[in-house]
Amino acid sequence: MRNLFAKYKEVILGLLILILLTVSWLLYASTLKHDFQNEIISSLEEVSTQGKSILEKEINGKLELLTEVSRRIGFYTADNYEEAAAMLAATAQENGFKRMGVITADGTTYTTDHVHMDLSDRPYYRKGLAGENSVSDPLVDREGSETIHVYAVPVYHNGEVTAVLFGTYDINEMRRQLEVTSFGGRGYTYIVNKEGNCIVDSTNSYSYPNMQNIFTSMEAEDRKNQAIADRMKVDFENGQDGCVRFMNKGIQYMYYRPLPINDWYLLTVAPASVLDSKMNAVLGRTYLLGVFMVLIFAGILVYILKDQKRRKAELMHSLYTDEITGGYSFAKFQVEAEKKIRRAEAGSLSLVSLDIDDFKFINELLGYEEGNHLIRYIHGVLAGWCGGEEIFAHQSADMFVALVDGHDHDALCRRLEELCSRLQSYSIWPQNKLAIVPAMGIFQLREKSLTLDFCLDCAGIARKSRKGQFAVHYAFYDERVKEQIYRDKRIEAVMKSALENGEFKAYYQPQYDAESKRVVGAEALVRWARPDGEIVSPGEFIPLFEKNGFISELDRHMFRIVCEQQKEWGNRGYAVVPVSVNVSRKLLYDLNFVEKYNRILTETAVEVQNVEVEITESVFFDNQPRLLDAIRHLHQSGYRILLDDFGTGYSSMAMLKDMSFDTLKIDKSFVDNIGDERGNKIVDGIIRLAESLELSTIAEGVETREQYEYLKAHGCDVIQGYYFGRPMTAEAFGMLLSSQTAGR
Ligand code: C2E
Ligand code: CA
Ligand code: CA
Repeated sequence: MRNLFAKYKEVILGLLILILLTVSWLLYASTLKHDFQNEIISSLEEVSTQGKSILEKEINGKLELLTEVSRRIGFYTADNYEEAAAMLAATAQENGFKRMGVITADGTTYTTDHVHMDLSDRPYYRKGLAGENSVSDPLVDREGSETIHVYAVPVYHNGEVTAVLFGTYDINEMRRQLEVTSFGGRGYTYIVNKEGNCIVDSTNSYSYPNMQNIFTSMEAEDRKNQAIADRMKVDFENGQDGCVRFMNKGIQYMYYRPLPINDWYLLTVAPASVLDSKMNAVLGRTYLLGVFMVLIFAGILVYILKDQKRRKAELMHSLYTDEITGGYSFAKFQVEAEKKIRRAEAGSLSLVSLDIDDFKFINELLGYEEGNHLIRYIHGVLAGWCGGEEIFAHQSADMFVALVDGHDHDALCRRLEELCSRLQSYSIWPQNKLAIVPAMGIFQLREKSLTLDFCLDCAGIARKSRKGQFAVHYAFYDERVKEQIYRDKRIEAVMKSALENGEFKAYYQPQYDAESKRVVGAEALVRWARPDGEIVSPGEFIPLFEKNGFISELDRHMFRIVCEQQKEWGNRGYAVVPVSVNVSRKLLYDLNFVEKYNRILTETAVEVQNVEVEITESVFFDNQPRLLDAIRHLHQSGYRILLDDFGTGYSSMAMLKDMSFDTLKIDKSFVDNIGDERGNKIVDGIIRLAESLELSTIAEGVETREQYEYLKAHGCDVIQGYYFGRPMTAEAFGMLLSSQTAGR
């Protein structure tokens, strides 16, 4: 559910806003409608007020007129009413009365038109006699058949009601008074009494024709009017005014209010179509605007959503594409690899982690363009090497990962060899034969439940386990490898403090002149004396330090303690011999390393001929200008340089050709083969070669008398090895020097 919301968050939000907008719009429209209706009601009310005041004025005017006339009649005595009635004729005509007359207390009637009738049963007559002014409900004229109203007032003579004065009025007259044009002629008015019986009806075409009773007419017109009529009846009963919408050829508004005459009600009516037309126009526009706005909003929403989708796609593309190679990004690899792992059966996949030894230096030396070029090259090689279903990606810097198929270990090894040789066919610097050294770690996914992260870690651990071993290009993950990594981590955690605490000591392995068997030199070899008394050999930590760069500090430290030791031996008066220190190839990248060494010499006041420098021949540095530089620098400062492990690298000969070493150290592997015919020949050859290049020779790892004899017989200058002496503490070597000094 939550996922669903997250996925369609924008859509849901947009729809909510849309609904909110619509609802608030409808609310607004309904308020507007309500306001309009109120306005309609108030305009109806206004028309009704006008009608009422017209009627009141009219009726009161008539009654006042009659009162005025009755006063004059009051002067007549009853027997003169005939005369009085004759006098009324002019007034009647003047004021639009159909007839005027006087009805005496005994019921005799005198009229302006001299008709004699008995009107003593009429209610207005009784009211008049009681001293009341009145207007009658519609009556049928007893003379003729028109419907009439009768206005009546009492006639006083000497303070007593002696007669009733009346004026008859055609009902049509009153209707005419009421028919003021309202609502463009479509509005009309009724007068009804409390029971709804018609007092004055309307001839307006929108009104009920021949209306007798408003309620009956309403109920007859439409059943919906029933409830409205009921409400009106209640209001009528209570003398209340009000407004209703009812049906009469469409919806009509009716305002009703009581009149202060009898129990009459004035009904002012107008068709809704008139009243609503303005409202509908405004509402129509409002709705239209609303719809328009909703459409615009919806349009914007759709645009935003589409744009977002596009951006997402773009983002996905950039996220899933590697910038340098244009292939899968690591993120994409992770997604695809996880899918592949889920699908595959256990043991059928292997994860390969690949990088290039010293890529950092390639980048630094040749620039990032060249570095990127190499990365693209590796990508290309992987593309050709991986099968259709296999996936691979550039992970970071020079790191690549590949998830490959296959159960068979040997087949995988063959494929890896093939990959190595393809990678190595790349020459960064063709004229200088700078080759790249791939490093691979392989983790075979034997179980199903492993996470990709875990597999990547293991492949990485396997790759790192190779540690600067140039000839070994790939390593499989096993528990031993993991142990190694943890060991390395533990070493790295303490190496700095160990250096500060002086735990790294120099052991000295004496070098003997082959002829005289005198000590003519020594090689300083590092030993790590742990606080718990354990002495750790360099093989355990030098490769790690070479990888993490700490070797430079260690080498400098070694150089310093060797110098300090030499100084001390000199001070004791021993015949000091040159001590050679090992310099890691990493140190050579530091252009100032010779200056730093010189400073140490100055600080410890040691002569430059008392220390020598051993440089291992290296694959990577073949013919490097940097190495040439370093050698030139060292020579300029007066150091003798020893070429260590001669014969183990790939390009010993090339190095000898271009670089001026002083001494060549014949590697133990050659010395080991002395006694064997071919071995002898090789050692012999190396010595001849050194002689021809005017280099002195030191044989390393001499363990037997036979080896020593052979080397001496064939002109090797100096011997180093267990046969004469193992690496020893400074104290032990000091004693050796001291005894030699004494025996001089
Ligand atoms: P390396 O420079 O070739 O040092 C000679 C190694 O051979 C030393 O091992 C030494 O103890 C051993 N060795 C000497 N004579 C014999 C022998 O007759 N038989 C046998 N089996 N071995 C013999 P060590 O001291 O374990 O040093 C190993 C490597 O560690 C050195 O090889 C060197 O590459 C490196 N190393 C040692 N100290 C330093 C240092 O201070 N700086 C640097 N950068 N590397 C060092
Ligand atoms: Ca050495
Ligand atoms: Ca060596």
